[in-house]
Amino acid sequence: MAGPRPKKSLGQNFLSDPWWVQRVVQALRLARTDQVLEIGPGKGVLTRELLKNAGHLLAVEIDGRMVEHLKREFAGVPNLELVHGDFLEYNLSARLAGREVRILGNLPYHVTSAILLRVLDEIRRFQRDPASAARVTDFSVMIQKEVGERILAGPGSRIYGVLSVFVRVLCDCELLLEVPPEAFQPRPKVRSVVLGLRALDRPRHRIEDWNLFRRVVRGSFNQRRKMLRRSLQGIPGLPPLEELRGLPTGFLERRPEELDAGEFADLAKRFGDCMGSEGL
Ligand code: SAM
Repeated sequence: MAGPRPKKSLGQNFLSDPWWVQRVVQALRLARTDQVLEIGPGKGVLTRELLKNAGHLLAVEIDGRMVEHLKREFAGVPNLELVHGDFLEYNLSARLAGREVRILGNLPYHVTSAILLRVLDEIRRFQRDPASAARVTDFSVMIQKEVGERILAGPGSRIYGVLSVFVRVLCDCELLLEVPPEAFQPRPKVRSVVLGLRALDRPRHRIEDWNLFRRVVRGSFNQRRKMLRRSLQGIPGLPPLEELRGLPTGFLERRPEELDAGEFADLAKRFGDCMGSEGL
């Protein structure tokens, strides 16, 4: 593949097999009117295929060498807008407030969770106040298979965790494809999957204070093998457990990995009730 040499520090494993490029883009079922955002276009293999199928494409790439390469490759293409920058810093709300966008990314390994959380946050903001955020309808992510399995895992599973809960509250999620290491250049050591996250119109469970919910979920999973009685005590700033009202008998003797997203929402609400937290 022509173009700049890959940098490991930026997670640059480029999709290089044209057959897989086609399959990934086909799985999105794009329409000619779709506004798409690509995270990390790299040398532009997916970009080229996306441009054939989408209406407008916004591509955000952190590596200046790739941006220069893409400018040459796609000179004069009217429906491509290239942004040189870090997606984690990119102000999606300002650029696309109230407008629909579909997001795709073959994500760099080192920032996979941060990027997922950033997009989930935009989905949550739109659900709360549609005028202030982009309407991310769906997010297709190519990630390590192991991370994909964690996201898809449910309560009771050893690999169920923070991302599984957050995704479950805000999206429907399905496995679209499993992609072998041979499809990439350089070849990663692990297999990859493409997950399709479809944003819900409103959260699956009522969450009055998202920050509190996030703290409760994260804090609980910090000590995932401990009973909730122990793991919740480790979360700074929460009221004493004795103040919680109406918990089912034996609830605090359960482990975080046994709770479904609705139970976490209910637990956060009970903390909120004691703290008199303001609803969002
Ligand atoms: N989309 C291309 C492909 O499939 O061949 C490249 C995928 S490569 C796994 C990840 C890309 O994301 C690289 O081009 C890398 O430079 C870019 N990248 C890494 N961190 C980024 C960030 N924080 N914001 C935007 N792009 C980033």
